[in-house]
Amino acid sequence: MIEVKNLVKRYGSHTAVDHLSFTVEKGQIYGFLGPNGAGKSTTMNIMTGYLGATEGEVLIDGHDILEEPEKAKACIGYLPEIPPLYTDMKVGEYLSFVAELKNIERSQRKEQIEKVLNMTRLKDVENRLIRNLSKGYRQRVGLAQAIIGFPDIIILDEPTVGLDPKQIIEIRELIKELAKEHTVILSSHILAEISAVCDHIMIISNGKLIASDTPENLEKQMSDAGTLYLEVRADKATTQTMLSEIEGLGTWSIEEKEGSCVATIAEGKKADPREELFYACAEKKCPILMMQYKKASLEDVFLELTEAAKKEAEKAKNSRHFIGHGKKKEESREEAKQDESSL
Ligand code: ADP
Ligand code: MG
Repeated sequence: MIEVKNLVKRYGSHTAVDHLSFTVEKGQIYGFLGPNGAGKSTTMNIMTGYLGATEGEVLIDGHDILEEPEKAKACIGYLPEIPPLYTDMKVGEYLSFVAELKNIERSQRKEQIEKVLNMTRLKDVENRLIRNLSKGYRQRVGLAQAIIGFPDIIILDEPTVGLDPKQIIEIRELIKELAKEHTVILSSHILAEISAVCDHIMIISNGKLIASDTPENLEKQMSDAGTLYLEVRADKATTQTMLSEIEGLGTWSIEEKEGSCVATIAEGKKADPREELFYACAEKKCPILMMQYKKASLEDVFLELTEAAKKEAEKAKNSRHFIGHGKKKEESREEAKQDESSL
């Protein structure tokens, strides 16, 4: 349905999208998840033909977004980060204008607009000026303009940003409703937003796709990374000895407290070492004060992956600066400017 191949977008020397490739299949909800500045909006703007790529291609239902923009765009409804609203228009008026822009047959316009007004619960404000609406309602108008024409693919950039909890729930419900008949791609920098509605998560960091899977599989991927916390009434040396006697334990660190030690043990080859730990402590007559296993959550996966990608990018940047020591002043100034813009 959508094929993105080797997409690159550079702003001067700053690479906002870095060789991104993925495919999107019909009938699912996809989530672009990544911290601010990760490249989500840039990718979405390229996918929808709003922005040209430096390299790579985007095919929408087999149509290249640059070579056959009209055919490709006809398959997409897009809600950009800043919705393109004409605030001096009334809601209904604006939606008819959008319907006209999208070349929807005159005979179908009224019916479609009615349907979209009802779906987005905008019927009551149909005759209000957009500029007088609250942020939540404006976001719904933004959604409505994306839905008009009922395109196969609906792309929503941070659809719930700036909304209150009730509005967020309403928009989520609407997205789920839309997904029954459309492929939906949405972005967010908040994990909870994505995991609440998406069937498939793509984690983007520093312009790179660092993970792409179902929420369940992403969690499983990290399930080896659980942590066991053990507090024993023993000194550090004894705790150390007890732990080292157990085979297959992951790496650990020990923190000494008053009269006890807390060991933080990463999950190793041994799936569940709790019983052995119990017997090891019993043998040394060291009472266990606390033993707790914490499985890695999706939040941990997200943080770990994005942190690792950030470090990698910083390393690459530092080595570039080192090589470019003798660089012309112009270039360095240009880079400084880019750095500012990426803050
Ligand atoms: P996200 O939507 O994930 O927050 P963006 O796609 O907006 O990220 O931005 C990705 C990176 O590209 C950021 O570092 C941002 O500062 C930079 N960027 C975006 N637009 C421009 C632009 N017009 N000129 C220069 N840099 C830009
Ligand atoms: Mg963005």
